[in-house]
Amino acid sequence: MIIDGKALAEKTKRNIRLQVKKMPFQPGLGVILVGDDSASKVYVNAKEKACQEAGFYSKKIILSKNIKQRELLQEIENLNKDKKIHGILVQFPLPPELNEKQVIEAIDPRKDVDCFHPYNFGQLTILNKLENLEKTLAPCTAKGVIKLIEETGQKIEGKKAVVIGRSNLVGKPTALLLLLKNATVMICHSRTVNLTQELKTADILIAAVGRPKLITGEMIKKGAIVIDVGINRITEGLVGDVDFDKAEKKAGFITPVPGGAGPMTIACLLENTILLAEKFGKK
Ligand code: NAD
Repeated sequence: MIIDGKALAEKTKRNIRLQVKKMPFQPGLGVILVGDDSASKVYVNAKEKACQEAGFYSKKIILSKNIKQRELLQEIENLNKDKKIHGILVQFPLPPELNEKQVIEAIDPRKDVDCFHPYNFGQLTILNKLENLEKTLAPCTAKGVIKLIEETGQKIEGKKAVVIGRSNLVGKPTALLLLLKNATVMICHSRTVNLTQELKTADILIAAVGRPKLITGEMIKKGAIVIDVGINRITEGLVGDVDFDKAEKKAGFITPVPGGAGPMTIACLLENTILLAEKFGKK
């Protein structure tokens, strides 16, 4: 069965629109884009469009790729002080001359909509269980992955989950949320020996690598839930990390690319903005 991330994201966004209508003030998201990377532009535009459709206040700041670190930090500080803004997102990757860690740490943790700030990520790490995902600040893509799995109606608890990729942005937080959902979690990465053997044990398989069709059908356990987070642009178009046509025959449930994890990341970004607005915004 194909898990329709686009439809689930639309449903989530419909609920968000209703929530916004009931709020005494408009939730606001500030997005900073540095440079002219075409994929980043597409993501930022999609996020801005989703904000507008949801009835949010949004502010898009586009900066030159030659911007200095201190100028970028000043832009973040301006958003930190802006009362109309409840969430701040800096689109990664930044040009290599800029320091991403310092940028993350410059965002006020009360406006850290991506949950990448060490304070917020640390808070998530020391949780013992995840009672209410909607009301928990967690990195957007990881949150979206859990919602996609839950959409299958299958239980996460007790299942063997394998995450391929260990980045701070996707792999690590996804593994953490799966652990909080009581899965038995393994993280595979570029130095994993015998990837095929490890993946074959997965009841739930999350691919977050960025290598087109790295995960072949033979790596997938029959009936597994496969969530493909990878986005790769190749000559035939946009593909994930999973060889979809082959994997679909083995998996019990699988997400497509596009139309899987991508739309859910945006829906969860809106959800996190509301969460921060409700918690720290002005009434
Ligand atoms: P990254 O480059 O930071 O991390 C990639 C990870 O893959 C690393 O941890 C590395 O160890 C691992 N890896 C690399 N080669 C491997 C191999 N041959 N075998 C096993 N593991 C290997 O990337 P990222 O930021 O985590 O993003 C991963 C992918 O997810 C990219 O395609 C990115 O575009 C996509 N992404 C999608 C969304 C979304 O909303 N769908 C959001 C963020 C990122």
